[in-house]
Amino acid sequence: MRKITLSNGKTVEVECLSCVLTSGLVEPDGGVIFETEYFHAHQDVAYPIRGLVILASKRHIKCFDELTEAESLDYINILTKIRKAQREALGIEYVYYFYNEDTTHHFHTWMVPRYEWMYEFGRSVESVRPVLLHARNKMNDKKNVQEVIEAINILTEVLNK
Ligand SMILES: [Zn+2]
Repeated sequence: MRKITLSNGKTVEVECLSCVLTSGLVEPDGGVIFETEYFHAHQDVAYPIRGLVILASKRHIKCFDELTEAESLDYINILTKIRKAQREALGIEYVYYFYNEDTTHHFHTWMVPRYEWMYEFGRSVESVRPVLLHARNKMNDKKNVQEVIEAINILTEVLNK
């Protein structure tokens, strides 16, 4: 069990943070970008990267092969929709995707836009963690966070049209 503090100041003990988040009990910072019966898309603003999206299953599962057929169809459709919105509304040319199954959260995919500044951390998968840490530790300034929130709002608008 973990203790979390709700936006109304109350503290609750929960079994699983993803369940709390994807069920809507707790609103992620920046809000929900897009939602279907099976999935929930939001940005983790602890990593202030413009256009970054986390797509999480609502069901309490961890592995790709636990998705039902309806869920896997929904998954690929949403990924495609979000990717298209990143390109068309935010001009994002490349995205890195990753997920790991040995997670304490639900099945969730990180969609990390690739920006020029990230290449100083390497070209491929090994650069993702340093990039995220750099964003968390060095890009937390007001101006950047504001741009991140604006991008969340743009994606939310485009995807829910
Ligand atoms: Zn859960």
